[in-house]
Amino acid sequence: MSDFIPLSVPNLKGRELEYVTTAVSTEWVSTGGPYVNDFENNVAKYVNAPAAVSCQNGTSGLHLAMLAVGVTKDEMVFVPTLTFIAAVNPVKYIGAEPIFMDCDDSLCMDPKKLEAFCESECTLKEDKCEKVLIHKASGKRIRAAVVVHVFGNMADMENLMPVAEKYGIKVIEDATEAIGTYYTEGKYKGKYAGTIGDIGVYSFNGNKIITTGGGGMVVSENKSYLDHIKHLSTQAKSDELYYEHDEIGFNYRMTNLQAALGLGQLEQLESFIEVKNNNKALYKEAFGEKILDNRDGIRSNCWFYAFMCKDSSERDELIKFLKEENIQSRPIWGLIHMQKPYEGSMAYKMEKAVYYRDRVVNIPCSTNLEPGQLKRVCDAINKFYEAR
Ligand SMILES: *Cc1c(COP(=O)(O)O)cnc(C)c1O
Repeated sequence: MSDFIPLSVPNLKGRELEYVTTAVSTEWVSTGGPYVNDFENNVAKYVNAPAAVSCQNGTSGLHLAMLAVGVTKDEMVFVPTLTFIAAVNPVKYIGAEPIFMDCDDSLCMDPKKLEAFCESECTLKEDKCEKVLIHKASGKRIRAAVVVHVFGNMADMENLMPVAEKYGIKVIEDATEAIGTYYTEGKYKGKYAGTIGDIGVYSFNGNKIITTGGGGMVVSENKSYLDHIKHLSTQAKSDELYYEHDEIGFNYRMTNLQAALGLGQLEQLESFIEVKNNNKALYKEAFGEKILDNRDGIRSNCWFYAFMCKDSSERDELIKFLKEENIQSRPIWGLIHMQKPYEGSMAYKMEKAVYYRDRVVNIPCSTNLEPGQLKRVCDAINKFYEAR
């Protein structure tokens, strides 16, 4: 049997071991230590953000981002349904309610449907110069939208931001899959995913393009948001010496060990992105239209590749066939509005999310894939279609 080809695994061949060894030998392994600040500064610099605040993972970053923009338990938040569930769960951590939105052909939130919902289902009030969007049926305020840059593609920020502006919605960019993606033309030319909305969140989970084992980072132009997020991530301590706390905080800060790994990984991010783009081009050569394209006018980090099947039974058979060839693949996520914890939540005119849910298969995309392994994946997929 040929070797197992996993879907997405870490690549730790840079200076990671050197930095982690330093963290261990200097005994700075917890949330203190120089690497945490260094990693924050380097990530901020890389995405041209004024500052960054680290956290334990992307999920905790999203939780803190929602708290920072002021989401409360009596409010609502727009979320995508075609995403990993961690983009949505923090809404419920706060006790707020999600409103599920459909995607467009980029797999990211559809700005037209977002606008149509705001127009037909909501009323816009002005309260002390602040726009307040009220959902008519429930009477609740809709405070924010979580926009996910799916698989490293860029959501349609050019059309989402004006809707958010018009209706007074705060935009939290879930850029957990998209560090390194930026616009190469248009209104946001040069802007990185995560730096266009009010707050952006990155993840360094083991399967992401760079990893700290587990880890996350929040960026924003708004200093008071970042200050508040850092405060909340470190138990909301208002007096270091006397242990006074002015609100309910969390133990969400990154450790020096995680940051040591992250520093080593960040140095290689551009080379990883190059590999991801080159490998995508190879798949594209082999399968053409079947590999989904990214939005025009961006440089994508090409984190995951989306292979399109003709329907869900072909999808299931392909995954099974690849498994027999010792190649890991997987369907895109189950839609979140149909998952047990979200039964009864509001979902608005789902069409494309259902279409892509039934058809998309993720195929191996690790940055350390050997040319021979790529060929094996291509050959296996060709064999599958030849036999049909
Ligand atoms: C990975 C991921 C997260 C969560 O990040 P963690 O670091 O695993 O907590 C959130 N949203 C999306 C879309 C993700 O892919």
